[in-house]
Amino acid sequence: MNHNNKGRNNGNQRIALNMAVIAIVAMIIVGVILFISPTIKELIAKAKSPYSVLLDVNKDMRAGISDYHVYGTHFNINGNMQLDLGSKVEDVELIFRNYLGQETKYPLIYEVIENNVEFSTSEKINTGINLEEVPVGNYFALLKITYAKDENTKTGTNKSDGEATYDNIKYYSLSDISDESDLIYYTVTKNSSNNRIDIGFETVQIEDDHTLSIMNVKSKECELPEDVYDIVIDAGHGGSDGGTVNGKYTEAKIVLDFALELKDKLEELGLKVKLTRDGTEDVTTPMAYTMYDEDGRVNIAGDSKAKLCISLHLNSYAGTIANGGLQIYCPYNIDTTFASSLSDEIITEANTYASTMKAHSIGKGIYCRTFDDNDIKENIVASKKGGFEPYNLDTTINYYYIIRELGGKITGAYIDGRNENYGKNKYFNSNIGIETYLVELGYITHNEDLNNLLNNQSGYVNGIVNAIKEQFSLLQ
Ligand SMILES: [Zn+2]
Repeated sequence: MNHNNKGRNNGNQRIALNMAVIAIVAMIIVGVILFISPTIKELIAKAKSPYSVLLDVNKDMRAGISDYHVYGTHFNINGNMQLDLGSKVEDVELIFRNYLGQETKYPLIYEVIENNVEFSTSEKINTGINLEEVPVGNYFALLKITYAKDENTKTGTNKSDGEATYDNIKYYSLSDISDESDLIYYTVTKNSSNNRIDIGFETVQIEDDHTLSIMNVKSKECELPEDVYDIVIDAGHGGSDGGTVNGKYTEAKIVLDFALELKDKLEELGLKVKLTRDGTEDVTTPMAYTMYDEDGRVNIAGDSKAKLCISLHLNSYAGTIANGGLQIYCPYNIDTTFASSLSDEIITEANTYASTMKAHSIGKGIYCRTFDDNDIKENIVASKKGGFEPYNLDTTINYYYIIRELGGKITGAYIDGRNENYGKNKYFNSNIGIETYLVELGYITHNEDLNNLLNNQSGYVNGIVNAIKEQFSLLQ
């Protein structure tokens, strides 16, 4: 009993002592926190909000993005910005700034008109910002304008050396004044891995009274979704449509054989390949006329979300021609580096030559066919006959449907369902397009070309594979 009581007393004293120690320690901790709290607050804020790297972004002015899109592997924007300083503009750049404040710079093409600057990332649809080269990370896209160092931007003088100091570099956020949709892009498969890049806008709260409309670019590693592909191979014609003919040979059958070998060889490089037809299609269905159906070749390709499409065809000529040769049809307004490489590689590997046809030629074996004034007139007549509103065509719109429709609005796609006989391209108004080339491998009606096509299929295919390997930096 006594022993127990004594023990309890000792226990109570110990508890009281412990509590006093705890109270003192707590007071010290609170004191320290109060003393250094501004720093802690800042650190917590920084850890909690990546927006702290946006504190130098102009609060009152922002650039307007009038359109943004992805064609093939490249992202581009167009926009304008009202200038808030009277100083001369010396440079305009696009900045991707990550959450640590580190920046990647992209040069812009720009023009100052009065107190407005218009800018774009590229004049060509397949150059600009290569999404294949954007490292994994989260970025804010900002406009950086460097103004001249003059009286407007002068802030004072440096006390130590007496030199004038300037505040001539300004950052502006980008706000969406377009009617575009957010973008989802999957990088080309390399070493069995892919990144997913999301591009879109959001409004963020920087400080209590400070919100910004911001363009986000977020790239992370991901598994390629089942329905997403790297490349589409389109073997022209098919079904009951044999395409061009020479004796027992049909274009549809020959280009299908090429497409199947091309698919195998690209898959050996680790690429995921979609065919628009594989020879198992209904032989009573003329593929050329069902191209815009729900399950037609245009929507098959669009659904694949591929970066590149190669459409294979053979040429023909009713009369006698001295030369056959290769023709590669490109979309309008592109950089022709890849097309040239495709042309050179095929010519070398297949031991063939570039077509000498002059019409629509834009380079050695390279062609670009857009609507001309006559085509536009014909379309108006056809629409009146068909009882639907004429399409809004101009001479920048691609003539060949596979090139035009797979690029979405970037290449002038217009099969929007108004002509009921044609169906509808689900992606006619898309701001993400597949970079498409129509390759006329040779003339089926030219015997030398036909012989080469029949006996040297692997040469042609290897040429295409080499160009793609180079384009996507696939080392193997
Ligand atoms: Zn054809």
